[in-house]
Amino acid sequence: MTWFKKVRKPIETPADKSVRVPEGLWVKCPSCAEILYNKDLVASLHVCKKCDHHFRINAADRLRMLFDDGEWQEYDGGLLSTDPLEFTDTKPYKDRLKAGKKATGRRDALVSATGRIGGIETVVAAMEYGFIGGSMGVVVGEMITRAIERAIERRLPVVIVSASGGARMMEGTLSLMQMAKISAALARLDRAGLLFISVLTDPTTGGVTASFAMLGDLNIAEPKALIGFAGPRVIEQTIRQKLPDGFQRSEFLLEKGMIDAVVDRRQMKDTIVRALRFAGAEPARDGAAAPAPETAVSDAAPR
Ligand SMILES: [Zn+2]
Repeated sequence: MTWFKKVRKPIETPADKSVRVPEGLWVKCPSCAEILYNKDLVASLHVCKKCDHHFRINAADRLRMLFDDGEWQEYDGGLLSTDPLEFTDTKPYKDRLKAGKKATGRRDALVSATGRIGGIETVVAAMEYGFIGGSMGVVVGEMITRAIERAIERRLPVVIVSASGGARMMEGTLSLMQMAKISAALARLDRAGLLFISVLTDPTTGGVTASFAMLGDLNIAEPKALIGFAGPRVIEQTIRQKLPDGFQRSEFLLEKGMIDAVVDRRQMKDTIVRALRFAGAEPARDGAAAPAPETAVSDAAPR
């Protein structure tokens, strides 16, 4: 019989405040509780008018926000994970892939595109958080690498918008290898003298932070985005203490010199255009040949 039993109190975790924009006419801001008309919210790029809370947005909304006239050309959307480990946790990885596809209409957690930003032809890769938490597996790694190689080939700047829980554990070491693969591609981009702007949005964590998200010539974050390697929950569970407010948020990282700027979503495009011009990028001449649409979307298995 145990007389003295040490009871371990579970640590207090704040209620999950991550709210995606729900369907419907009205949306309640999770930060200030203001009731917002959905159409107004779309017009303000999913930023609360009252408190500037930045709602999470999907990759298509992100591209619409960045590209001139909301027009872009997508690449490599046919790539599909082969589930090399035949991984199963609480449910098979194959089922998670299917659920992700159903939720987002994408085959993996990234949209790779080219289009014009302020008239400047640019390669943009935007992560899709709704697909298995925007996790980086073999397909995401391959798509980003191809996007960078496309930029080198055409001498274009690159913008990558991160929204990710990190490397995809269901692909084990193979997903970790993408960190090295993308970083190597970015080194080639750098040697080619081309600009890379990393946009960090809520959340950017794990292997994504530990590789390309922090390798930008310019690292720009949205306000109050969670940015870190291990998430605060993991750190809290390890040190069994509640972390201070603002820990691992954009403003904290700016103060500590980890990122270059915190930019409101409504000024993000202008900021990127300014940076592209500053780096010497020139607007594509109208009448000049638009980028040749890819003749066939490559469905080859990722390397
Ligand atoms: Zn608000």
